[in-house]
Amino acid sequence: MAHVILGHCCKDASCVRVCPQNCIHPAPGEDGYASTETLYIDPDSCIDCTACVEACPASAIKPEHSLTLTELPYAARNREYFAQVPAAPRTRPRVAFELPLAGPGDRLEVAIVGSGAAAMYTVRELLQRSSSIRVTVYEQHDTIGGLLRRGVSPDHVGVREMIRLFDVPFGDDRVTIVPETEVGVDISIDELRARFDTVILASGASQPRQIAATGAGDEIRQAIDILVAENCGTLPPSAPAGPGCVVIGAGNVAFDVVRWAARVRDRAPVGEQLRELVILSRSAPEAAAFTPSAFYELLDLADTEVLIDRAGSVPRADADSPLLRALSRLPSTDVGGVPALPAGAGPLRIVLSFGQEVADAAKSERGAVAVTTTAGRTFHANSAICATGFTAKPIDGVPRGPRGVVPNRRGQVISHETGDPLQGLYVVGWAKRGASGGVGDNRICAAETVTQLVADLRSRAPRSASVR
Ligand SMILES: Cc1cc2nc3c(=O)[nH]c(=O)nc-3n(C[C@H](O)[C@H](O)[C@H](O)COP(=O)(O)OP(=O)(O)OC[C@H]3O[C@@H](n4cnc5c(N)ncnc54)[C@H](O)[C@@H]3O)c2cc1C
Ligand code: SF4
Ligand code: SF4
Repeated sequence: MAHVILGHCCKDASCVRVCPQNCIHPAPGEDGYASTETLYIDPDSCIDCTACVEACPASAIKPEHSLTLTELPYAARNREYFAQVPAAPRTRPRVAFELPLAGPGDRLEVAIVGSGAAAMYTVRELLQRSSSIRVTVYEQHDTIGGLLRRGVSPDHVGVREMIRLFDVPFGDDRVTIVPETEVGVDISIDELRARFDTVILASGASQPRQIAATGAGDEIRQAIDILVAENCGTLPPSAPAGPGCVVIGAGNVAFDVVRWAARVRDRAPVGEQLRELVILSRSAPEAAAFTPSAFYELLDLADTEVLIDRAGSVPRADADSPLLRALSRLPSTDVGGVPALPAGAGPLRIVLSFGQEVADAAKSERGAVAVTTTAGRTFHANSAICATGFTAKPIDGVPRGPRGVVPNRRGQVISHETGDPLQGLYVVGWAKRGASGGVGDNRICAAETVTQLVADLRSRAPRSASVR
């Protein structure tokens, strides 16, 4: 028996540091870390010491003997990883960082824009390196936590529990939170740069990307609005009514909203419950944006069947990847006209349609909305939900590169035009990398930005003791 990492592991690598056997891989710095969905435990090296269980902020590690039926496949996936990856010498990654941020008597004043996961890991990094640092966190909303509080799906319980990681760093005496203050609106970035030694942008990238739509109006909702409303307990989002709904986009957020639609289906008026939900993926299955665990979560939904559109792109049965082989085994179906079943009670059909890039969404005569794709198909449905990715909201005075990402070198912001560093301005999290990666990815990202900040401070002339 060994311990097993489950699918909601967010790769923050807290477990790697504490494992006495060095049996958790790929670790930060190793090949495959950037692209892996989760880390894995080598069952042949694990001695069941449980150190990793206590270190895991997402409760994503369990002993094999206590796995539930739906968790059992993860034991095989952990084993498979080590069967595929040659046993190259594995080095223990360096996750601790030396050096204090400022000398005795000196004080570094840092402003952080945003209070999501990237800000939290950054604050942790900063506090570890200096007792004389002062951090002020500006947050536009009245609660801290960013997407971890507002966006992550309520059924991702282990991930949502990571909000407890904010307690210690954000409760520290050296940290001040300024809520309901939007940088760029209530206070400018120039004012912050004048007032603080260093400004770190941790403002994320949660503005939904829009699709072309000619007057589809209220029939198209944004996935993020639904998830935020559900998480924040504001207006409960109404369940899709009528037999058919199209979800535009096939990343993990699209799958979050599909599970939501399945959960709330019986909230629709009697006889109007959803029966068919079509997920349109722009890419072919080989380049699908969703992760394997998001797909397996769909298969685990009660009272649903998952199918594949036979007129879309379909993976080969002998594909290398287990995910593609699993997709190829889905029963195929026709889809696109009126939904196959009338509205009402009964199992929900979830149909994956690949190679369908949306060209337009408009009001239709046959249903409420008609979504046309560049492949020349039209999907009719009663409602549509858009989940086509995210970009950052521009902040005046902050450079902006492709996909809204703040141009940077290892976290130091640089001019988009000249590539020169902008003194004292740093970036972390989704604002730095674009909208990809889970909560835990922000830990390594924060370490990189703070390491760069420390290197820059060291290379500057020593400052005089400046207690403000
Ligand atoms: C719908 C959804 C579901 C997800 N589910 C998962 C999951 O299940 N598991 C997982 O590991 N990851 C998940 N993620 C990814 C995860 O949420 C991100 O990795 C993480 O939130 C990025 O952290 P961040 O701090 O960069 O951005 P955010 O969490 O977006 O934090 C940015 C913060 O900055 C604030 N802000 C922005 N602009 C300003 C401004 N001008 N002034 C002041 N404050 C500002 C925002 O209000 C926000 O609080 C999900 C993402 C989304 C969108
Ligand atoms: S149980 Fe112990 S030996 Fe096994 S992976 Fe966790 S920390 Fe490593
Ligand atoms: S969430 Fe972090 S600590 Fe838990 S298993 Fe994944 S990498 Fe390890």
